[in-house]
Amino acid sequence: MHDDVHLTEGRVSRVLKERLWPAVHTLSTPVSVEWHELPGEPIAPADGLALTYEPVEVGTGWGPAWGTTWFRITGTVPAEWSGKRVELVCDLGFDVSRTGFQCEALAYTAAGEPVKSLNPRNQWVLVASEAVGGEEVELFLEAAANPLLLEHHPFLPTREGDIATSSKRKLYTTRRIELAVFEKDVFELCLDLETLHELQVELPAGPRKSRILQAMDDALDRVDLQRVAETAAAARSVLSGVLEPAAHESAHQIAAIGHAHIDSAWLWPVRETIRKVARTTSSMTELLGEDPDFRYGMSSAQQYAWLKEHRPEVYARVKAAVAEGRFIPLGGMWVESDTTMPSGESLVRQFLYGQRFFESEFGIRCHGVWLPDSFGYSPALPQLMKRAGFDWFFTQKISWNQVNKFPHHTFEWEGIDGSRILSHFPPMDTYSSQLSGAEVAKASRQFQENRVATGSIAPVGWGDGGGGTTREMTGKARRLRDLEGSAQVTWRHPDDFFTEARAELREPPVWVGELYLELHRATLTSQHLTKQGNRRCEHLLVEAERWSATAAVRGLLDYPYDELDALWQQVLLQQFHDILPGTSIAWVHREAVAQYARVATAAEDLIERALTALAGDGTVALSADGRSGAVVAAQPTGVVSVVEEGGTYVLGNELVRITVSAEGLITSALDLATGRDAIPAGAEANLLQLHQDFPNMWDAWDVDRFYRNRATDLREVSSISVTPDGLVIERPISADSSTVQTLSLAPGSRVLEISQRTEWNETEKFLKVAFPLDVRAEQTLAETQFGYHRRPTHTNTSWEAAKFETSMHRWVLAAEPGFGVALVNDSTYGFDVTRPTALTTEVRLSLLRAPRFPDPETDQGVQTHRYGLVIGADVAAATEAGAALNTPAREVTGAQAVEPLVTVSGEGLVVSSVKLAADRSGDLVVRVYESAGARTQGELRVDGRYGRVSEVSLVEDPLAEVSTEGGAVALGLGAFEVRTLRFHRS
Ligand SMILES: [Zn+2]
Repeated sequence: MHDDVHLTEGRVSRVLKERLWPAVHTLSTPVSVEWHELPGEPIAPADGLALTYEPVEVGTGWGPAWGTTWFRITGTVPAEWSGKRVELVCDLGFDVSRTGFQCEALAYTAAGEPVKSLNPRNQWVLVASEAVGGEEVELFLEAAANPLLLEHHPFLPTREGDIATSSKRKLYTTRRIELAVFEKDVFELCLDLETLHELQVELPAGPRKSRILQAMDDALDRVDLQRVAETAAAARSVLSGVLEPAAHESAHQIAAIGHAHIDSAWLWPVRETIRKVARTTSSMTELLGEDPDFRYGMSSAQQYAWLKEHRPEVYARVKAAVAEGRFIPLGGMWVESDTTMPSGESLVRQFLYGQRFFESEFGIRCHGVWLPDSFGYSPALPQLMKRAGFDWFFTQKISWNQVNKFPHHTFEWEGIDGSRILSHFPPMDTYSSQLSGAEVAKASRQFQENRVATGSIAPVGWGDGGGGTTREMTGKARRLRDLEGSAQVTWRHPDDFFTEARAELREPPVWVGELYLELHRATLTSQHLTKQGNRRCEHLLVEAERWSATAAVRGLLDYPYDELDALWQQVLLQQFHDILPGTSIAWVHREAVAQYARVATAAEDLIERALTALAGDGTVALSADGRSGAVVAAQPTGVVSVVEEGGTYVLGNELVRITVSAEGLITSALDLATGRDAIPAGAEANLLQLHQDFPNMWDAWDVDRFYRNRATDLREVSSISVTPDGLVIERPISADSSTVQTLSLAPGSRVLEISQRTEWNETEKFLKVAFPLDVRAEQTLAETQFGYHRRPTHTNTSWEAAKFETSMHRWVLAAEPGFGVALVNDSTYGFDVTRPTALTTEVRLSLLRAPRFPDPETDQGVQTHRYGLVIGADVAAATEAGAALNTPAREVTGAQAVEPLVTVSGEGLVVSSVKLAADRSGDLVVRVYESAGARTQGELRVDGRYGRVSEVSLVEDPLAEVSTEGGAVALGLGAFEVRTLRFHRS
């Protein structure tokens, strides 16, 4: 017979789009619309309902960027609609391709109860499932005029990303606001046809495909395009024959979970996310009520906390659905944080505050970590997840790799200490699935463990800016539950998926080390003030806890639980994966920097209060070391004087001798004990290099490899002078930018410290500082949470070549046996390593960038850095120098020295936290880790009277009793092991 696949496909596509979908709401009646525009910040819903409203015509422009327009809608259900499902249909000026990235609204009843959101893929609100003719309708809409920033030509600089600079023109025009009858048969026919059409596209030529095509033609023959509602049921009856055959025995099993990846801030500020969460969750609880099989998952305790505070009515619905096991809290973290940059203690607190919130609010704990979108994953995570009580990990982001395809979808991920955790990447490669035929087929086809496993996860719903799952998606899931030719789709709790995956995969493949994202490498550098604020605050909070715990245990003051919890939660929010990485709009970073300043001030106050209590009233000059927790008599400090010798400058003490050229470049850094020079003969370190930096896309996120091809060495010096603080070098960067560096060396130190103040007014540039090192290092060691990771310096494979910009915390070390050199920093995270010769290694710190999207003014103005060259360093020296730079000793005046509350002995052992227990019992919690990467023995002592001692998890759950002898706890730790001990009040 004559067959024309394309003719049928074209027919189905056009009829669906132009006749059937529009016929879902055919009968309609106008309503009265009134409005009140608020150009500034949102107001509480009760105040919104009480506004004075003016009549407005549909078709009127509304909403300057970031403004809120309240609409009041009133109407009457026509008598002849009795018994029908009636909905309010609203098109506020939506672009269906940009859900979550533009205007949206939340509908309220006249009593102020939130009903459901309106967005481009959800343009309706239920009025009555069985309407009564003559019924009066009154609804309010809180419509947010969020500007579309990621437009069809994305990444162009825009000033719309901050209410302080955005335009006042109206961005949207209402198109349709009316009451309409929902035609269920038409809706179901649309889904039947769409599901079958998308399935057959993926099928090979053969009987199944052909029969679907024929059935679709037969069904469309039954539809009267002018009387769709009356003929839809007949058309559906023709399709039942091809919708009934069951899936194949070996069909891929998709565990679907309703989802909206709501970024806690990104192309919108935090205050808008609060409303996005309310909109999405109100719709999702509504959808849970409509479909008994549907399950929805949401991460981030912070988002639940916002809902609880700002929309308690919706929160009550969420809470009820959580109790039924259908609304599923995911991830056990405070927010979906970045994981490469936050400190070890920060990640612990992400888990602690996340899990404690879910426990106290819902009586549940999460069993897995859910981070679909963060930009790479630290190799410290497997241990931290395990020790926080999780047993699975989920992401999909590594599918965004530019070069290398990750070889597994379900696998064990092994971290720096050898911990392993079962991990899964959905083979659909998305966290916002529509359950399209293409996505479902892709999951089946791509799943790397097809030989030995049967299933994968699909997060289903509109993401990023929220929206979530739609009734169209739940309708598709119903059809795909058991359909010939398709994978089988079932709504599942991700826990159940992982339980089955564990049973199926007896010997899962293993991936060792970091999950490096071969993209978004510049997120280690963009928005320097945000990164500096994070680093500073996370150190100050750890210090504030330590001094406060010491003072509280000694009965000198009450431990500031409330203050510390609030401050930590603010820092944790800013670690969200678009804030700390520097990829949000100007507004978000402006608020983050202000927030960090408030946190730092509050933490400094707590530290001062505790130190005053501990040191007493007096006039003795003391030095408080926040790392050891001891206050001792102050020793004379200062820097060694700089000597000028024939046009060069020399800084030297008993350990090292550094020579600086007339250009302000380091030509020699001698370790006097070994006679080794850190700088290769003829090379120059502390060389600032300026690169052109215009990536192909994602400006704040990406630096593309070709940036290296064009570099300017900044050798010009405006002045160089010897001062009491050290050697001060001023140099221009360009006509508009300049920098001042102060090089100093303390007596008895092997760290040349560089304090840098930069006036930065550049466009699309990348500033690096280079340190060529006379070390043949096959690998660099870079600090991560509670340890370090090794990365090869060569580029033998495409995997290594792709890592041309990598992460560090406070230090990076290049070493050969017997001699090494480290670089330490107080506020940066990015670096690169090259091999200028086979015998030398060049390490460059990434200091500043100047991308123009999404913040057109990124990093402009004054920026400061402190970093240092550690001459003759091993891991211990690098660890010590990095910690000292980030937690410097404080000058205190008081009456007496203070013994530390906690002391630890044993090579490589570091106390990372001394605090009182989160449950406010008054118990003392001490965390210690092995920093050198070796097994070690040691002991830990607490100066105080305690009862029993127990080992606890990172979220402070009891694990085991620990024996003590003479007040000391004996420690035996594996490489990079993190151990948390709880000293119970006696
Ligand atoms: Zn995201």
